[in-house]
Parts: sequence; C-alpha cells; structure tokens
Amino acid sequence: MKPMGALPPEFAQQDGPLNIAGRSADEWVSHAGDTPLFVYDMAIVAARIARFRGAMPAIDLHYAIKANPHADLLAAIAPLVDGLDVASSGELAKAMTVKPAASVSFAGPGKRDDELAAAITAGATLNVESEGEAARAFAIGERLGLVPRMAVRVNPDIELRGSGMRMGGRASPFGVDAVRAAALVKAIVAAGADWRGFHIYAGSQALDAGAIVETQAATIALAARLGEEAGVAPPLVNLGGGFGVPYFAGDVVLDVEHVGDALGKSLDGRPPILAETRFAIELGRWLVAEAGVYLTRVVDVKQSQGEGFVIVDGGLNHQLAASGNFGTVVRRNYPIAVAARMGAGPTDTVSVVGPLCTPLDRLGDKVALPSVQVGELVAIFMAGAYGASASPSAFLGHPAAIEIVTA
Ligand SMILES: *Cc1c(COP(=O)(O)O)cnc(C)c1O
Repeated sequence: MKPMGALPPEFAQQDGPLNIAGRSADEWVSHAGDTPLFVYDMAIVAARIARFRGAMPAIDLHYAIKANPHADLLAAIAPLVDGLDVASSGELAKAMTVKPAASVSFAGPGKRDDELAAAITAGATLNVESEGEAARAFAIGERLGLVPRMAVRVNPDIELRGSGMRMGGRASPFGVDAVRAAALVKAIVAAGADWRGFHIYAGSQALDAGAIVETQAATIALAARLGEEAGVAPPLVNLGGGFGVPYFAGDVVLDVEHVGDALGKSLDGRPPILAETRFAIELGRWLVAEAGVYLTRVVDVKQSQGEGFVIVDGGLNHQLAASGNFGTVVRRNYPIAVAARMGAGPTDTVSVVGPLCTPLDRLGDKVALPSVQVGELVAIFMAGAYGASASPSAFLGHPAAIEIVTA
C-alpha cells in the first residue's frame, strides 16, 4: 500500500455519497449525461479568495488563468479578483471577455508579433521578457499608432525555497536578468511607453510559508533597488505567487495568514521609492485546485499476479497531473475516493488505472480504498488546476472530458 494525499477540507469530513456543491456525484453525472467529468465548485474558489483577502494586507489579487481557463470558471472568478494574468493571445481573448484590458497582463517568453499587437491594441499590460521583445513591441506600437503598456519581467536573483518549480535564481528564458532590468526600464521610459512596473516571479507550489515570506521580502527589496537604479518609482510590483496546495501525503497546508502578516510588515517598512506603488500577487492553483473533482466510472475490476486493478473510463488524457507526468519528479498519489462510500474505511489495496494503452496511465498506485464494483464512480480530488487544459486529450482518441462549473 502507498499513501495518498488528504482530501480537501470541504470533502474530508463527508460520509456516504460524495456531495459536491449540494449534489451527489451521481446527480452531477446524470446532469452532465456521461463520465468522465470535472466538477468545479465555485463556492470553494470563493472561500479561498475570501481567505486570501482576510489574510493579506491591501494588495491586488490576480488569477493566472492557465491554471484553469474554462470559460464559465473565468466568468465566475473575474468579479472576485482584481486582475487576470494570461500567457497567450488565446488566453488574452478569453480574459477580455470577462475583464477590462487594463486589468489584464500578458507574460510569456515567446510572444509573437501578432500577440504583441493584440495586447497593445487591447490596452493590456505586456510583461516584457527581453530587450528584443521590448523593441518589437515599440515597433508594433508605432505602426499601430498606440503607446504600449509595459511592465518589465525580472528574472530575480532570488529563488523560492522548496518550490515545486523554481523560476528564479538561475539562467532562465523568463524575464530579463536583474542586472539588466534597470537599463531596460530606462530605455522603456525614455521611449515613451506607459511603464507599469515590475513582474517578479520566483517559483510555484511552495507550501512553506517561511520560504514565501523570505521571497516576498527579497522581491520588495529588489523592486526598490531596481527602481532606484532606473530613477523611477514602479507604479505596480507584481510579487509573483507560488502559493502551493497539498496534493500528497505529508504535504502541509500553507499558512497564508502567516504570509499575510509578514507581507503587511514588509510593506509597512518598504523603501520610500515604493511609497506610492501598488502590489499584486498572482495565483493559479491555490485558488482553484481544491475546487475540482474528476469523476470517472469503473469499467473493470481485475487481479493480476496478486495485485488488484480498478480500471476507470478516464485517465491521463484528462488528468495528466494525477498520473505523475506533469512536472513531478517522483510519482505520488493524489487523493482518491469511491464516490458512493465517503468516510468508509479501506478494505482493498488497488491501483486505479485509466483506459489508455500505456503503463503511464495510472491515477492511483496501490491505494487503500473501500471495495468498488464495475459501474460505480471513483473521484480524483485536487483536479481544479492543470487538469483538462493541461492534459493530452487527443492521445488515444477518447472523447474530451465534460467540465461543469457550479453556479
Ligand atoms: C504558471 C504561473 C502562475 C500560476 O502558478 P500556480 O502555481 O498555479 O499558482 C503564476 N504566474 C506565472 C508567471 C506563471 O507562469
């Protein structure tokens, strides 16, 4: 038997049939008409946002839409956040249907000319990632007769300790190295752009509040130093995000209140050049991961060489991350439950596998579950971020998953 992660708090105490936003898993499947199915409970998203607002000083909250770009989820989350961060012209177009361009920022190391043109035309903020990209944006702005809004994305000489995905403190395709950032700001300001400030993103999926606190303090200090070097105060500093969620056994819940207290103190003591600066934090998974449940139906149950297998109708084609093939070094188990028997003690050790013809298609490896029959539903939790949109849905030709956003 191998351990699995803890169910999100909204599901952990349930007994009997799994309840998502007031309906049973069976009811959601009837409503959708088929499995596999993602259900995103917007009350859970709203609760995370309320917790963030309660914990943090007065700063802006941005949603990084690559975590879950479903149109209904975007429409529901947009009024609850101050900005949307996008990373392609496709995401930009989606964001603009639910938020004014002034609240949308566009990051990403490979923005094509047509993407720069779309952002400049719309009036979204470009998080400029290189000197070359800035030059292309200016040329496009001139051709269009528009002044680009630009923030400079800095590759910080800081790394987010314990983060699942480090994006700072080393050579990187993201942003301009901190040593060159002030020169780029000067050039942008001299060229007459609407300079919005800095975007400084040091990593992702951190569960250690102390590490986030340190990184935020260092990020504020870096923004101040760069502003002084450039001789201009940044209107906005996007401090990045990196708030992680507990996917696996032994993961702790991030102490957001501790992060908020410390950030409040750092901001109170910030250098004078940042006196008028607004600050933002951009989050993806922390806002939406726990709100999503992936429901699959058991197609077969079998034994092989003494091991039990539960074969379900959904797999890594929809929920790649749960199979351990999306940015994890060691495969570990996401939380899983038999939807009809929440709270029941485990009786069997089984591997929960999908229908794809590859041994990679394993959603649960030797997990302890109550016994489950063909035709019943198995729920995989923590499915609200980097699920449907981050999985190879065309692989093996099964239908795309159905996605439902609760009202
Ligand atoms: C992916 C990404 C995010 C969101 O990351 P999460 O770990 O989901 O919070 C935020 N900002 C940038 C720049 C990103 O690339």
